[in-house]
Amino acid sequence: MKAAVVQDFTAPLAIEDRPLPTPAPHQVRVHIEACGLCHTDIHAAHGDWPVKPTPPFVPGHEGVGIIDAVGSQVRHVRVGDRVAIPWLAEACGRCDHCVTGWETLCLQQQNSGYSVDGGYAEYSLAHGDYVVPVPEGLNPLDAAPLACAGVTTYKAVKVSGARPGTRVLISGVGGLGHLALQYARIAGAETIAVDVTDEKLALARELGADHVIDARIQDVAAEAQKLGGADAAISLAVSNASFQAAYAALRRGGTLVLVALPADGKLELPVFDTVLNGTSVVGSIVGTRQDLAEVFQLHALGRTRVIRESRRLEDVNACFEEVLAGKVSARLVFDLR
Ligand code: NAD
Ligand code: ZN
Ligand code: ZN
Repeated sequence: MKAAVVQDFTAPLAIEDRPLPTPAPHQVRVHIEACGLCHTDIHAAHGDWPVKPTPPFVPGHEGVGIIDAVGSQVRHVRVGDRVAIPWLAEACGRCDHCVTGWETLCLQQQNSGYSVDGGYAEYSLAHGDYVVPVPEGLNPLDAAPLACAGVTTYKAVKVSGARPGTRVLISGVGGLGHLALQYARIAGAETIAVDVTDEKLALARELGADHVIDARIQDVAAEAQKLGGADAAISLAVSNASFQAAYAALRRGGTLVLVALPADGKLELPVFDTVLNGTSVVGSIVGTRQDLAEVFQLHALGRTRVIRESRRLEDVNACFEEVLAGKVSARLVFDLR
């Protein structure tokens, strides 16, 4: 089978022909139809973060496909089912985080396309209990970005406290941000979208943002404060300056939700202002299997739009360049059908 492989943090990915993997008793094998390109895959391939994957590895945590083989212990899914293989490849299922609805914080978790091989391949193995069924009728090219960009921002919007009467700033309208904007609107919030390219600002308007700020030429915090400040800001841009701007865009009692993970990501927190303003700063990491089921259901109900372009897996290195140059409409998806 064909797979895109990171062999070295400084080299381009290689397209390899690998043997078809055999599922262990608890695993399923998924014939991948589509896998989205999350900016995280670029961080993974470059070894950007303090905890690094070990090359060689296959990136990808927005894999969607059809189960074609199941191990003997797998119960809740069958051959022929369409499933997603998200970032949370598996967790222990027993720790306090796992049993209280915070499996994404499990210390024993494995991560698709990072600590275990992911969806940039024709076939991928996955834990039978951690794949998430994709509802009938969902296009796999839509389901793929929902498996990370969707669930991550759906969770971040929940964490932000967005609801009618609140104002939520979305910093970065990329793969994650274009969905964050839609979930904030579904939650009933007034929305402010921020980006640095004309295309993304136009997309934000098209998706119904109430206010749009161009961070290239406008002072994000000042513009947001003119509107009364943001009750919550969700940081989705791969830029330290954008975190600082999002923090300064908050009104008193506001919450900054940190999601983007640049190499050397840093936020300088002025203690006096944070205390006096009663500001909250919270990190948010992907979402649970239940969050993803809710994301798929919202899409099945027609409430969200996935803005995407299809690519061939062979073009993976050019695709990374496109994303880094900000030339992508929102999400690139490898179509492996
Ligand atoms: P992306 O490249 O598709 O989107 C980033 C967007 O930010 C682009 O639209 C870009 O134009 C915009 N941008 C750049 N500079 C900006 C600035 N100064 N102000 C406002 N906008 C700016 O990336 P993505 O796939 O959406 O991922 C975003 C980040 O989120 C990555 O660091 C990724 O690793 C991280 N991520 C985190 C989680 C999590 O669970 N916390 C999950 C998935 C991805
Ligand atoms: Zn991701
Ligand atoms: Zn656990």
